[in-house]
Amino acid sequence: MSGRSRELFADAREVIPGGVNSPVRSWRAVGGEPAFIARGRGAEVVDVDGRVFLDFVGSWGPLILGHAHPRVVAEIAERAASGTSFGAPTAAEVELASLLRDAVPSIEQTRLVSSGTEAAMTALRLARAATGRELIVKFAGCYHGHVDALLVKAGSAALTLGVPDSPGVPGALAGLTLVADFNDVAGTRRLLRARGGEVAAVIVEPVAGNMGVVPPAPGFLAALREETSRCGALLVFDEVITGFRVAWGGAQSRYGVLPDLTCLGKIVGGGLPLAALGGPRRLMEQLAPAGPVYQAGTLSGNPLSVAAGLATLRTLRETQAAYERLERLGAEAERVLTEAAAASGVPACVNRVGSMLTLFLGVDAVDGYAAACRADTAAFARFFRRMVDEGVYLPPSQFEAMFVSLAHDEAQIAELGRAARRALAAL
Ligand SMILES: *Cc1c(COP(=O)(O)O)cnc(C)c1O
Repeated sequence: MSGRSRELFADAREVIPGGVNSPVRSWRAVGGEPAFIARGRGAEVVDVDGRVFLDFVGSWGPLILGHAHPRVVAEIAERAASGTSFGAPTAAEVELASLLRDAVPSIEQTRLVSSGTEAAMTALRLARAATGRELIVKFAGCYHGHVDALLVKAGSAALTLGVPDSPGVPGALAGLTLVADFNDVAGTRRLLRARGGEVAAVIVEPVAGNMGVVPPAPGFLAALREETSRCGALLVFDEVITGFRVAWGGAQSRYGVLPDLTCLGKIVGGGLPLAALGGPRRLMEQLAPAGPVYQAGTLSGNPLSVAAGLATLRTLRETQAAYERLERLGAEAERVLTEAAAASGVPACVNRVGSMLTLFLGVDAVDGYAAACRADTAAFARFFRRMVDEGVYLPPSQFEAMFVSLAHDEAQIAELGRAARRALAAL
């Protein structure tokens, strides 16, 4: 990376650990130095050196309308002019909670928080309180924020007790997390038949997005629903990425499987810090002050975040055939990337659900964590850096999702394909 970005990164490393406020931004996984971004508009971002990129990160998912959408910007500005935070209830929170109830099939009530991490953390506490049990089941390769008990992926074998992925996570907490394999119906069934009576919640990304995109195998989500109901554990869908992304009502409406609790984030905040935990009234009313399960936040339901979220969701709802367009552009992106890989002779596969997708290099198929780990990360790093030179900004890791927004158009997807063709041919 050139000029000003390089200088800023050197300065940043003096005052910010690793130079960034969230690790993947450092481009460490792809062996580069990050572009510092100055501004964005629509499907493009511009760095501090004036380089324009066609963006497929979209702030890691929130920007389904693209950067600096005029209505979102206007509604944030209008709200800001009347005060940014009160620590008191506001009318717009009721509007957002009502919209979430109407949109997401399993939600009657929501509690707004400021990050997906907080939503997942609250889901676990509520599930443990509601069931009087302590164990949590998660799936290898699924990410639910940096909550202690969820920073565990352990080996990929079901029935292994979790060990922490990070120093600082107490073994005692990680030990309350059991790890199963995503898409492994038989293994998950065995685990829940053996230990289900101790399990408070099974938490899953209904479409995995944090080991690269991995769609749920047919029957996987339905089996989780069946087995959790049978053993009395709660099923938690972490829809922080998939909510309002893979369908208006999230993955639960796309696949027709309803969880007990739903974590939302990213799109619901429209690019500002906001996330939510939602579920049926009988569970949600166990949260304070309606019930005894403590949860709070000084900036929860922040007026600017709620304004950005409402503007984003209303625009999505009012956009004619928004999800058909996202599906079409996503399918086109899948097609051009698949063709580019085929033309280059590089073994690869593209996983996609709607407008979220991942090009895996060096593997023919990825159906879970073990297969994702076989991807050729060194080839991906070279591919990523060539794509930067081509003016295309991809997630700087093999194990992340690319996002297509409503601000992208057919010509830009074609440009993605031409850039990928040149980048892969040069590998
Ligand atoms: C991003 C993400 C989170 C964490 O959200 P933050 O706002 O970064 O804390 C949780 N779950 C999933 C599936 C995510 O993609």
